[in-house]
Amino acid sequence: MALIVQKFGGSSVADVKRIKRVAKRVVETKRKGNRLVVVVSALGDTTDGLLELADAVTDRPDEREMDMLLATGEQASVALLAMAIHKLGAKAISFTGPQVGILTDKMHTKARILDINTSRIDRALRDGNIVIVAGFQGKTETEEITTLGRGGSDLTAVALAKALHAKQCEIYTDVDGIYTADPKIVSDARKLDAVSYDEILELASLGAQVMQSRSIEVGKKFNVPIRVRSSIRRSKGTLITKENPKMEDVMVSGVALNENEAKITIFKVPDKPGVAAKIFKTIADHGINVDMIIQNKTQTNTTDISFTVFKSELKRAMDAVWKASRAVGAGQVVCDQNIAKVSIVGVGMRSHTGVASKVFGVLAKHKINIEMISTSEIKISCVVSGKKGKQAVRVIHREFGLGRK
Ligand code: ASP
Ligand code: MG
Repeated sequence: MALIVQKFGGSSVADVKRIKRVAKRVVETKRKGNRLVVVVSALGDTTDGLLELADAVTDRPDEREMDMLLATGEQASVALLAMAIHKLGAKAISFTGPQVGILTDKMHTKARILDINTSRIDRALRDGNIVIVAGFQGKTETEEITTLGRGGSDLTAVALAKALHAKQCEIYTDVDGIYTADPKIVSDARKLDAVSYDEILELASLGAQVMQSRSIEVGKKFNVPIRVRSSIRRSKGTLITKENPKMEDVMVSGVALNENEAKITIFKVPDKPGVAAKIFKTIADHGINVDMIIQNKTQTNTTDISFTVFKSELKRAMDAVWKASRAVGAGQVVCDQNIAKVSIVGVGMRSHTGVASKVFGVLAKHKINIEMISTSEIKISCVVSGKKGKQAVRVIHREFGLGRK
Protein backbone atom coordinates (compact mmCIF):
# COMPACT_ATOMS: atom_id res chain seq x y z
CA MET A 1 0.00 0.00 0.00
CA ALA A 2 1.52 3.30 -1.09
CA LEU A 3 1.93 6.04 1.48
CA ILE A 4 1.03 9.52 0.27
CA VAL A 5 1.42 12.81 2.12
CA GLN A 6 -1.12 15.43 1.10
CA LYS A 7 -1.03 19.04 2.21
CA PHE A 8 -3.96 21.42 2.02
CA GLY A 9 -3.25 25.15 2.34
CA GLY A 10 -5.28 27.74 4.19
CA SER A 11 -7.38 28.70 1.17
CA SER A 12 -8.33 25.04 0.62
CA VAL A 13 -9.84 24.87 4.11
CA ALA A 14 -11.08 28.45 4.37
CA ASP A 15 -14.65 27.55 5.34
CA VAL A 16 -16.88 24.62 6.31
CA LYS A 17 -17.83 23.83 2.73
CA ARG A 18 -14.22 23.57 1.72
CA ILE A 19 -13.27 21.51 4.76
CA LYS A 20 -16.00 19.05 3.78
CA ARG A 21 -14.70 18.99 0.22
CA VAL A 22 -11.18 18.21 1.42
CA ALA A 23 -12.57 15.48 3.67
CA LYS A 24 -14.34 13.91 0.70
CA ARG A 25 -11.27 13.98 -1.47
CA VAL A 26 -9.07 12.55 1.26
CA VAL A 27 -11.50 9.72 1.94
CA GLU A 28 -11.60 8.89 -1.80
CA THR A 29 -7.83 8.63 -1.92
CA LYS A 30 -7.83 6.42 1.14
CA ARG A 31 -10.53 4.13 -0.29
CA LYS A 32 -8.38 3.59 -3.37
CA GLY A 33 -6.12 1.66 -1.03
CA ASN A 34 -3.53 4.24 -0.04
CA ARG A 35 -2.11 4.98 3.37
CA LEU A 36 -2.56 8.65 3.96
CA VAL A 37 -1.01 11.42 6.03
CA VAL A 38 -2.69 14.80 5.59
CA VAL A 39 -1.09 18.09 6.61
CA VAL A 40 -3.30 21.15 6.96
CA SER A 41 -2.73 24.87 7.37
CA ALA A 42 -4.84 27.19 9.47
CA LEU A 43 -8.26 28.10 8.06
CA GLY A 44 -8.07 30.90 5.47
CA ASP A 45 -6.32 33.99 6.82
CA THR A 46 -6.34 32.82 10.43
CA THR A 47 -2.59 33.25 10.87
CA ASP A 48 -2.76 36.85 9.65
CA GLY A 49 -5.61 37.46 12.08
CA LEU A 50 -3.60 36.06 14.98
CA LEU A 51 -0.64 38.23 14.04
CA GLU A 52 -2.88 41.29 14.01
CA LEU A 53 -4.22 40.42 17.45
CA ALA A 54 -0.70 40.18 18.84
CA ASP A 55 0.15 43.45 17.18
CA ALA A 56 -2.85 45.12 18.79
CA VAL A 57 -1.69 43.97 22.22
CA THR A 58 1.98 44.90 21.97
CA ASP A 59 4.54 46.05 19.45
CA ARG A 60 7.12 43.74 20.99
CA PRO A 61 5.56 40.33 21.40
CA ASP A 62 7.64 37.68 23.12
CA GLU A 63 8.54 35.11 20.47
CA ARG A 64 7.75 32.09 22.62
CA GLU A 65 4.25 33.45 23.26
CA MET A 66 3.93 34.27 19.57
CA ASP A 67 4.43 30.59 18.77
CA MET A 68 1.93 29.57 21.45
CA LEU A 69 -0.55 31.83 19.68
CA LEU A 70 0.21 30.98 16.04
CA ALA A 71 0.18 27.22 16.61
CA THR A 72 -3.50 27.40 17.62
CA GLY A 73 -4.58 28.07 14.03
CA GLU A 74 -3.46 24.72 12.70
CA GLN A 75 -4.73 22.87 15.78
CA ALA A 76 -8.24 24.05 15.00
CA SER A 77 -8.12 22.99 11.36
CA VAL A 78 -6.82 19.46 11.96
CA ALA A 79 -9.56 18.76 14.50
CA LEU A 80 -12.27 20.06 12.18
CA LEU A 81 -10.97 18.01 9.27
CA ALA A 82 -10.88 14.87 11.42
CA MET A 83 -14.52 15.47 12.41
CA ALA A 84 -15.53 15.99 8.78
CA ILE A 85 -13.86 12.70 7.85
CA HIS A 86 -15.58 10.86 10.70
CA LYS A 87 -18.89 12.19 9.39
CA LEU A 88 -18.15 10.43 6.10
CA GLY A 89 -17.70 7.18 7.97
CA ALA A 90 -13.93 6.89 7.68
CA LYS A 91 -11.32 6.52 10.39
CA ALA A 92 -9.12 9.54 11.10
CA ILE A 93 -7.13 11.03 13.94
CA SER A 94 -5.60 14.48 14.24
CA PHE A 95 -2.32 15.43 15.90
CA THR A 96 -0.38 18.60 16.59
CA GLY A 97 3.23 18.86 15.39
CA PRO A 98 4.60 18.29 18.91
CA GLN A 99 2.40 15.22 19.37
CA VAL A 100 3.92 13.53 16.34
CA GLY A 101 7.46 14.28 17.41
CA ILE A 102 8.43 17.05 15.01
CA LEU A 103 11.58 18.18 16.77
CA THR A 104 12.94 21.64 15.94
CA ASP A 105 15.66 24.02 17.04
CA LYS A 106 14.84 26.88 19.43
CA MET A 107 14.43 29.64 16.84
CA HIS A 108 10.89 30.69 17.71
CA THR A 109 8.74 31.81 14.74
CA LYS A 110 11.26 30.45 12.21
CA ALA A 111 12.39 27.15 13.65
CA ARG A 112 14.12 24.46 11.61
CA ILE A 113 13.14 20.82 11.76
CA LEU A 114 15.90 18.68 13.27
CA ASP A 115 14.24 15.30 13.40
CA ILE A 116 10.88 13.55 13.20
CA ASN A 117 10.05 10.56 15.36
CA THR A 118 7.48 8.77 13.24
CA SER A 119 6.44 6.07 15.72
CA ARG A 120 3.13 7.68 16.68
CA ILE A 121 2.14 8.26 13.06
CA ASP A 122 3.20 4.72 12.14
CA ARG A 123 0.99 3.31 14.89
CA ALA A 124 -2.01 5.41 13.89
CA LEU A 125 -1.58 4.34 10.25
CA ARG A 126 -1.35 0.70 11.25
CA ASP A 127 -4.66 1.12 13.08
CA GLY A 128 -6.18 2.11 9.73
CA ASN A 129 -6.43 5.85 10.33
CA ILE A 130 -6.12 8.73 7.98
CA VAL A 131 -3.53 10.65 9.97
CA ILE A 132 -3.98 14.42 10.05
CA VAL A 133 -1.05 16.54 11.18
CA ALA A 134 -1.05 20.24 11.99
CA GLY A 135 1.33 22.02 9.64
CA PHE A 136 3.77 24.79 10.52
CA GLN A 137 4.65 23.62 14.04
CA GLY A 138 6.93 21.49 16.15
CA LYS A 139 8.56 21.41 19.55
CA THR A 140 12.03 21.89 20.97
CA GLU A 141 13.91 19.37 23.08
CA THR A 142 12.52 21.15 26.14
CA GLU A 143 8.91 20.77 24.91
CA GLU A 144 8.45 24.37 23.83
CA ILE A 145 6.08 24.89 20.90
CA THR A 146 7.72 26.40 17.81
CA THR A 147 6.52 27.46 14.37
CA LEU A 148 8.39 27.07 11.10
CA GLY A 149 8.03 30.48 9.43
CA ARG A 150 5.23 31.70 7.16
CA GLY A 151 4.07 29.06 4.72
CA GLY A 152 5.63 26.45 6.99
CA SER A 153 2.98 23.80 6.40
CA ASP A 154 4.70 23.04 3.10
CA LEU A 155 7.82 22.26 5.07
CA THR A 156 5.92 20.01 7.46
CA ALA A 157 4.51 18.07 4.50
CA VAL A 158 7.81 17.63 2.66
CA ALA A 159 9.70 16.72 5.84
CA LEU A 160 7.04 14.15 6.78
CA ALA A 161 7.15 12.68 3.28
CA LYS A 162 10.88 12.22 3.68
CA ALA A 163 10.68 10.80 7.21
CA LEU A 164 7.89 8.37 6.31
CA HIS A 165 9.46 7.36 2.97
CA ALA A 166 6.27 8.43 1.23
CA LYS A 167 5.86 7.73 -2.47
CA GLN A 168 4.92 11.34 -3.10
CA CYS A 169 4.14 14.65 -1.43
CA GLU A 170 1.09 16.36 -2.89
CA ILE A 171 0.60 20.07 -2.26
CA TYR A 172 -3.03 21.09 -2.82
CA THR A 173 -3.55 24.78 -3.38
CA ASP A 174 -5.73 27.32 -5.19
CA VAL A 175 -3.73 27.16 -8.41
CA ASP A 176 -3.64 23.99 -10.46
CA GLY A 177 0.10 23.85 -10.95
CA ILE A 178 3.12 25.87 -11.92
CA TYR A 179 2.87 27.99 -15.04
CA THR A 180 5.35 29.43 -17.54
CA ALA A 181 4.28 32.86 -16.26
CA ASP A 182 1.61 34.34 -14.02
CA PRO A 183 -1.65 33.71 -15.96
CA LYS A 184 -2.93 37.05 -14.62
CA ILE A 185 -0.20 38.74 -16.65
CA VAL A 186 0.17 36.40 -19.62
CA SER A 187 -3.16 35.09 -20.83
CA ASP A 188 -1.72 32.13 -22.73
CA ALA A 189 0.67 31.01 -19.99
CA ARG A 190 1.00 27.24 -20.03
CA LYS A 191 0.96 24.81 -17.14
CA LEU A 192 4.20 22.87 -16.80
CA ASP A 193 4.02 19.09 -16.42
CA ALA A 194 7.33 18.97 -14.60
CA VAL A 195 9.89 21.40 -13.28
CA SER A 196 13.18 20.86 -11.46
CA TYR A 197 13.86 21.80 -7.84
CA ASP A 198 16.42 24.38 -8.95
CA GLU A 199 14.03 26.02 -11.38
CA ILE A 200 11.26 26.28 -8.85
CA LEU A 201 13.66 27.66 -6.25
CA GLU A 202 14.63 30.41 -8.67
CA LEU A 203 11.02 31.04 -9.64
CA ALA A 204 9.85 31.14 -6.03
CA SER A 205 12.55 33.51 -4.87
CA LEU A 206 11.75 35.62 -7.93
CA GLY A 207 8.28 36.20 -6.68
CA ALA A 208 6.33 33.34 -8.27
CA GLN A 209 5.00 32.35 -4.85
CA VAL A 210 4.02 28.75 -5.21
CA MET A 211 5.55 27.01 -2.23
CA GLN A 212 7.69 28.00 0.72
CA SER A 213 11.30 28.03 -0.55
CA ARG A 214 12.68 26.13 2.40
CA SER A 215 10.32 23.24 1.77
CA ILE A 216 11.63 22.93 -1.77
CA GLU A 217 15.21 23.00 -0.52
CA VAL A 218 14.38 20.09 1.77
CA GLY A 219 12.63 18.30 -1.10
CA LYS A 220 15.72 18.76 -3.23
CA LYS A 221 18.10 17.62 -0.52
CA PHE A 222 16.22 14.38 0.05
CA ASN A 223 14.84 13.97 -3.45
CA VAL A 224 11.17 13.97 -2.42
CA PRO A 225 8.88 14.12 -5.48
CA ILE A 226 6.43 16.98 -4.92
CA ARG A 227 3.26 17.47 -6.90
CA VAL A 228 1.52 20.86 -6.83
CA ARG A 229 -2.15 20.57 -7.76
CA SER A 230 -5.54 22.18 -7.37
CA SER A 231 -7.68 21.37 -4.37
CA ILE A 232 -10.77 21.97 -6.49
CA ARG A 233 -10.01 20.86 -10.01
CA ARG A 234 -9.07 17.28 -10.79
CA SER A 235 -5.91 17.82 -12.78
CA LYS A 236 -2.49 16.27 -12.40
CA GLY A 237 -0.80 19.55 -11.57
CA THR A 238 2.96 19.99 -11.84
CA LEU A 239 5.62 17.59 -10.63
CA ILE A 240 8.66 19.14 -8.93
CA THR A 241 11.47 16.68 -9.27
CA LYS A 242 15.16 16.30 -9.86
CA GLU A 243 16.55 17.47 -13.16
CA ASN A 244 16.31 15.02 -16.04
CA PRO A 245 17.85 15.13 -19.52
CA LYS A 246 14.48 15.85 -21.12
CA MET A 247 14.22 19.10 -19.18
CA GLU A 248 17.45 20.29 -20.71
CA ASP A 249 15.94 20.17 -24.19
CA VAL A 250 13.77 23.08 -23.18
CA MET A 251 15.73 26.29 -23.13
CA VAL A 252 13.45 28.30 -20.86
CA SER A 253 10.82 27.06 -18.40
CA GLY A 254 9.30 30.28 -17.19
CA VAL A 255 9.32 34.04 -16.86
CA ALA A 256 8.80 35.67 -13.49
CA LEU A 257 8.12 39.22 -12.41
CA ASN A 258 9.18 40.73 -9.11
CA GLU A 259 7.81 44.15 -8.26
CA ASN A 260 8.86 44.09 -4.62
CA GLU A 261 12.32 45.53 -4.96
CA ALA A 262 13.72 49.05 -5.12
CA LYS A 263 17.04 50.26 -6.49
CA ILE A 264 19.56 52.27 -4.49
CA THR A 265 22.50 54.06 -6.11
CA ILE A 266 25.53 55.53 -4.34
CA PHE A 267 27.42 58.05 -6.43
CA LYS A 268 31.09 58.93 -6.41
CA VAL A 269 32.32 55.96 -4.41
CA PRO A 270 36.13 56.07 -4.00
CA ASP A 271 37.56 53.41 -6.29
CA LYS A 272 39.92 51.53 -4.01
CA PRO A 273 40.05 48.15 -2.29
CA GLY A 274 37.87 47.63 0.77
CA VAL A 275 35.25 50.27 0.04
CA ALA A 276 32.54 47.93 -1.24
CA ALA A 277 33.27 45.60 1.67
CA LYS A 278 32.70 48.43 4.12
CA ILE A 279 29.47 49.60 2.49
CA PHE A 280 27.88 46.18 2.28
CA LYS A 281 29.01 45.24 5.78
CA THR A 282 27.18 48.28 7.14
CA ILE A 283 24.08 47.27 5.19
CA ALA A 284 24.31 43.66 6.38
CA ASP A 285 24.82 44.78 9.98
CA HIS A 286 21.43 46.49 9.72
CA GLY A 287 19.90 43.15 8.75
CA ILE A 288 19.06 44.25 5.22
CA ASN A 289 19.03 41.78 2.32
CA VAL A 290 20.67 42.93 -0.88
CA ASP A 291 19.83 41.30 -4.18
CA MET A 292 21.35 42.51 -7.47
CA ILE A 293 24.52 44.61 -7.34
CA ILE A 294 26.29 46.44 -10.14
CA GLN A 295 29.42 48.51 -10.08
CA ASN A 296 31.32 49.86 -12.99
CA LYS A 297 34.81 51.24 -13.14
CA THR A 298 34.86 54.67 -14.67
CA GLN A 299 37.80 56.64 -15.99
CA THR A 300 37.87 58.88 -12.95
CA ASN A 301 38.90 57.60 -9.54
CA THR A 302 35.34 57.12 -8.34
CA THR A 303 32.60 54.72 -9.31
CA ASP A 304 28.81 54.44 -8.87
CA ILE A 305 27.32 51.38 -7.17
CA SER A 306 23.68 50.32 -7.63
CA PHE A 307 21.89 47.48 -5.92
CA THR A 308 18.37 46.36 -5.09
CA VAL A 309 16.67 45.74 -1.73
CA PHE A 310 13.13 44.78 -0.70
CA LYS A 311 10.79 47.77 -0.82
CA SER A 312 9.67 46.85 2.68
CA GLU A 313 13.23 47.43 3.92
CA LEU A 314 13.93 50.52 1.81
CA LYS A 315 13.65 53.12 4.58
CA ARG A 316 16.04 51.28 6.86
CA ALA A 317 18.31 50.53 3.92
CA MET A 318 18.55 54.20 2.95
CA ASP A 319 19.54 55.16 6.51
CA ALA A 320 22.22 52.50 6.52
CA VAL A 321 23.51 53.41 3.06
CA TRP A 322 23.77 57.13 3.86
CA LYS A 323 25.75 56.19 6.93
CA ALA A 324 28.04 53.97 4.86
CA SER A 325 28.43 56.61 2.16
CA ARG A 326 29.59 59.18 4.67
CA ALA A 327 31.95 56.70 6.31
CA VAL A 328 33.76 55.90 3.04
CA GLY A 329 33.69 59.44 1.66
CA ALA A 330 31.25 58.71 -1.16
CA GLY A 331 28.64 61.08 -2.53
CA GLN A 332 24.90 61.26 -2.85
CA VAL A 333 22.53 58.30 -2.31
CA VAL A 334 19.32 58.02 -4.33
CA CYS A 335 16.61 55.41 -4.61
CA ASP A 336 14.07 54.36 -7.21
CA GLN A 337 10.99 52.39 -6.19
CA ASN A 338 9.71 52.32 -9.69
CA ILE A 339 11.48 49.23 -10.93
CA ALA A 340 10.53 45.69 -11.86
CA LYS A 341 12.74 42.64 -12.07
CA VAL A 342 11.98 40.28 -14.93
CA SER A 343 13.67 36.89 -14.88
CA ILE A 344 13.75 33.92 -17.14
CA VAL A 345 14.61 30.54 -15.74
CA GLY A 346 15.52 27.23 -17.30
CA VAL A 347 17.97 24.39 -16.70
CA GLY A 348 18.34 24.23 -20.48
CA MET A 349 20.38 27.43 -20.33
CA ARG A 350 23.29 25.32 -19.16
CA SER A 351 23.55 23.71 -22.55
CA HIS A 352 22.08 26.36 -24.88
CA THR A 353 23.77 29.57 -25.91
CA GLY A 354 22.22 32.81 -27.07
CA VAL A 355 19.51 33.05 -24.44
CA ALA A 356 20.77 36.36 -23.07
CA SER A 357 21.10 38.01 -26.47
CA LYS A 358 17.59 36.89 -27.35
CA VAL A 359 16.23 38.46 -24.15
CA PHE A 360 18.09 41.73 -24.70
CA GLY A 361 17.05 41.76 -28.35
CA VAL A 362 13.35 41.44 -27.69
CA LEU A 363 13.44 44.08 -24.94
CA ALA A 364 15.25 46.45 -27.33
CA LYS A 365 12.71 45.78 -30.07
CA HIS A 366 9.98 46.94 -27.69
CA LYS A 367 12.00 49.94 -26.49
CA ILE A 368 12.24 48.60 -22.95
CA ASN A 369 15.40 49.91 -21.33
CA ILE A 370 17.47 47.53 -19.19
CA GLU A 371 18.79 49.15 -16.01
CA MET A 372 20.54 46.19 -14.39
CA ILE A 373 21.39 42.64 -15.40
CA SER A 374 22.35 39.61 -13.37
CA THR A 375 22.75 36.01 -14.39
CA SER A 376 23.25 32.58 -12.89
CA GLU A 377 23.68 29.22 -14.58
CA ILE A 378 19.96 28.81 -15.04
CA LYS A 379 18.62 32.37 -14.82
CA ILE A 380 18.83 35.80 -16.41
CA SER A 381 17.31 38.77 -14.57
CA CYS A 382 16.84 42.27 -15.92
CA VAL A 383 15.68 45.30 -13.98
CA VAL A 384 13.44 47.53 -16.08
CA SER A 385 11.20 50.49 -15.34
CA GLY A 386 8.26 49.53 -13.11
CA LYS A 387 5.78 50.61 -15.77
CA LYS A 388 7.28 48.17 -18.28
CA GLY A 389 7.56 45.08 -16.09
CA LYS A 390 4.40 43.30 -17.22
CA GLN A 391 4.99 44.14 -20.87
CA ALA A 392 8.54 42.78 -20.59
CA VAL A 393 7.21 39.49 -19.22
CA ARG A 394 4.72 39.21 -22.10
CA VAL A 395 7.18 39.91 -24.89
CA ILE A 396 9.83 37.57 -23.51
CA HIS A 397 7.22 34.85 -22.97
CA ARG A 398 6.15 35.20 -26.61
CA GLU A 399 9.70 35.41 -27.97
CA PHE A 400 10.60 32.06 -26.40
CA GLY A 401 7.37 30.46 -27.59
CA LEU A 402 6.29 29.55 -24.08
CA GLY A 403 2.55 30.03 -24.59
CA ARG A 404 -0.11 27.44 -25.30
CA LYS A 405 0.21 26.13 -28.81
N1 ASP B 1 -0.72 29.13 8.59
C1 ASP B 1 0.68 29.41 8.35
C2 ASP B 1 0.80 30.65 7.49
O1 ASP B 1 -0.19 31.22 7.08
C3 ASP B 1 1.38 28.25 7.74
C4 ASP B 1 0.94 27.91 6.34
O2 ASP B 1 -0.09 28.38 5.87
O3 ASP B 1 1.63 27.12 5.71
O4 ASP B 1 1.90 31.06 7.21
MG1 MG C 1 -1.66 30.15 5.59
